[in-house]
Amino acid sequence: MHANFNKTKIVATVGPASNTKERLLALAQAGVDVFRLNFSHGTHEEHFQVIQHIRAINVEYGYSISILQDLQGPKIRTREVEGGEVMLEKGQTVRITTANVPCSEALISTNYTALPKDVSEGDRILIDDGKIELKVQSIDGEEVKATVIYGGPLRSKKGINLPNTLVSTPSLTEKDTEDLYFGLEHEVDWVALSFVRSPTDIHLLRHIIRQRGKDTRIVAKIEKPQAINLIDEIIEATDALMVARGDLGVEVGMEEVPMIQKMIVQKSTDAAKPVIIATQMMESMIDSPRPTRAETNDVANAVLDGADALMLSAETAVGKYPELVIQSMAETIRIVEEKSPRVYNRPYVLDTAAETFYNDSVIAAACVLSKDTKAQAIVGMTTSGYTAFRIAAHRPKAHIFIFTSNKKIIPVLNLVWGVRTFFYDSLVSTDATFNDLKQFLMKEGYLAHGDVFINTASMPIAEKRRTNAIKLSIAR
Ligand code: PGA
Ligand code: MN
Repeated sequence: MHANFNKTKIVATVGPASNTKERLLALAQAGVDVFRLNFSHGTHEEHFQVIQHIRAINVEYGYSISILQDLQGPKIRTREVEGGEVMLEKGQTVRITTANVPCSEALISTNYTALPKDVSEGDRILIDDGKIELKVQSIDGEEVKATVIYGGPLRSKKGINLPNTLVSTPSLTEKDTEDLYFGLEHEVDWVALSFVRSPTDIHLLRHIIRQRGKDTRIVAKIEKPQAINLIDEIIEATDALMVARGDLGVEVGMEEVPMIQKMIVQKSTDAAKPVIIATQMMESMIDSPRPTRAETNDVANAVLDGADALMLSAETAVGKYPELVIQSMAETIRIVEEKSPRVYNRPYVLDTAAETFYNDSVIAAACVLSKDTKAQAIVGMTTSGYTAFRIAAHRPKAHIFIFTSNKKIIPVLNLVWGVRTFFYDSLVSTDATFNDLKQFLMKEGYLAHGDVFINTASMPIAEKRRTNAIKLSIAR
């Protein structure tokens, strides 16, 4: 049995602090469900090594750990600073250039060549997580003049955010396309798109994935105000979401983020799309073996909000205590899930107009039945993964065990709240299959003698259609 039986999943970013096979294994054993490969850093060769390690661990230990490729997107940065640091004083005027020169006193240089074309007078330019704020005075050809609103030390290669500007560069840059081809070639389970602004960004990405003959699932990273305005359309277009609180906090103001987080979790779960909460969850643990009280509360509250997964970034990529981070996060999740009834049985409204309405109703009924009978498990079957996403969206207290003949979907589903997936491909008859699944779950210790459990299935079983049947049993 997997060491961690929490419902809320953990996504850990891989970096120098975690990229050997031994360290990846230690994190997996501490409770990681998904490893995130951050393509803002590292070479293809380094990412390839990590992919090989994760696949080897899955085979050797019987895990289904998922690989999430995170594409950098149009991340705008300053260039190198002469001498490492210059001070920007409040009220002073600075020039911003796209020329390939280092930043110096009163001159900021950026890699984003369309900046002078995109910004308008009065736009805000935020640097280094918004620590420095500039306001555009005027635009003069390739140069922009700006006033320093909040000053501070400017260092090399810091992120620039343009919250009021319609950034003209596409969400999938040339680098992203190359990285995407690499990820598809190596069959990553999920691909995350940064700085999504509209559903079109998702459609374009899906088009490329399809052109390459793949079905890789997409995570839309919500970190732009424009994405908040089109959130319903983006949820419809994507397969999963990430509340990317780092850039989002800079762009909309971090005071706005808590309620945006709750809104996105609610809407995503209504649509049965997994949602990841990301950034600074255990930030202080980059340098410290224990989290702060506030961080522990943030983790607990994200679980209570109903997130599918919580993500770690620098904590596991470059921090000093990656294993302790996972242990502390997993323990917090475990206690919240054990003590709070609020996590379970979320209210739902079925879409009567949906093509899948009858199947959705059967799954909803299975979840209600599991609640009434205090069932130990709901046992579902799927080919596309659809049934697993739907069952999870109801947040049943019962364990969710999914069986599939589609090997590719097994790690994909590891991101989804509560879902544990196993391979099964004998489809002789419903009776034989139900019996096989029960035997397997009892042998593995997931079901004990006398436990109530519920099967969902598609009958006739060999046709592999959508779920249309429910059976209640007692394990013996
Ligand atoms: P990043 O995305 O770590 O790739 O920037 C997450 C965030 O912005 O919160
Ligand atoms: Mn980001």
